[in-house]
Amino acid sequence: MIVTLAMTTTKAFAAHAATSPLATYSFERRDPGPLDVQIEILFCGVCHSDLHTVRSEWGPTNYPCVPGHEIVGRVVKVGSEVKKFKEGDLAGVGCMVDSCRTCSACQANLEQFCENGTIFTYNSPDKKSGGFTCGGYSKSIVVEEAFVLRISDKLDPAATAPLLCAGITTYSPLRHWKVGKGQKVGVVGLGGLGHMGVKLASAMGADVILFTTSPGKTKDALRLGAKDVVVSKNADEMSKHANSFDFILDTVSANHDLNAYLSLLKRDGTMTLVGAPIQPLPVEAFNLIFQRHTLAGSLIGGIKETQEMLDFCAEHGIVSEIEIIPIQQINEAYERMLKSDVKYRFVIDMRSLKD
Ligand code: NAP
Ligand code: ZN
Ligand code: ZN
Repeated sequence: MIVTLAMTTTKAFAAHAATSPLATYSFERRDPGPLDVQIEILFCGVCHSDLHTVRSEWGPTNYPCVPGHEIVGRVVKVGSEVKKFKEGDLAGVGCMVDSCRTCSACQANLEQFCENGTIFTYNSPDKKSGGFTCGGYSKSIVVEEAFVLRISDKLDPAATAPLLCAGITTYSPLRHWKVGKGQKVGVVGLGGLGHMGVKLASAMGADVILFTTSPGKTKDALRLGAKDVVVSKNADEMSKHANSFDFILDTVSANHDLNAYLSLLKRDGTMTLVGAPIQPLPVEAFNLIFQRHTLAGSLIGGIKETQEMLDFCAEHGIVSEIEIIPIQQINEAYERMLKSDVKYRFVIDMRSLKD
């Protein structure tokens, strides 16, 4: 049942169709209830998932769509029952804003796999206000405290925003597959997710090899912590690494040949996909059968693990490499993202959107 809530008009940028550029838009957000935190959005990272969704690449999107799930801002109001946040605190919101809290996944702190349907930050049915959830390309957001993250004031808030998706999406599989010291780990693609994967896996002690289609990114990858860089279009360079990886994290957003990477795993090695290309990717059975390889996938991470990742990053001084843009440049940013021309995450300064 949807109770009639007090609402406030919020300015935003939205996509109105799969083929039209994002443009200014206003919509109604609920005023904070007893359990809610209201955040004035300062920065919002630009994830390739925003682009996939805006263009209905993963299936039909609900328009108008306000994307954005790498949100950092200032708490401006808290409900009467909120305990962890007070006005003036820095706070973050990632890819989810609600879940059932009672299913086995929620009970295991894996809200991203909620059996009753995770409520994602945008383009999900909004059970509280009706319509569909609207994300961080907006001036303010209201989220239940249980889905709001504490943000360290030791880190640059703009460069922290991408941790809320790119950070947790790479941290979670690295932890789940127990990446650590003495392991050889591949990261495929040096974009938003990939560059966080390189930083996090090297902070966990692994020897990281970056695979890229952009030879111009080599120097940056080494600076970010990679031990070596392989240009994946070069078959000779690739074959030098045959049967040698413990783990490979594939962050590529477009079609590519998985078999070229599966054959680089050693016995019992795992390759995990976090990149979500829109077309099915063929896998040769023998690339799994021989050497008992595993091909797996991973979806963001639960709220508890997201906080753990933020605390890990604060402790190790890890943030994203960013290029700050005003919201008015979002359409150009999407075009650059499609050309792999991002170093290494666009972050929107939401103060560029005037009231
Ligand atoms: P991004 O910043 O655009 O980075 C993608 C990188 O993939 C590019 O920088 C490029 O790296 C490489 N690439 C692009 N096109 C390629 C091609 N045709 N062949 C080979 N490599 C190519 O994107 P992102 O924000 O990191 O997101 C990456 C993917 O992860 C997207 O599909 C996104 O939707 C998905 N995602 C998944 C989750 C999850 O929970 N699983 C969460 C967030 C995002 P090089 O220039 O180094 O080759
Ligand atoms: Zn994302
Ligand atoms: Zn649930």
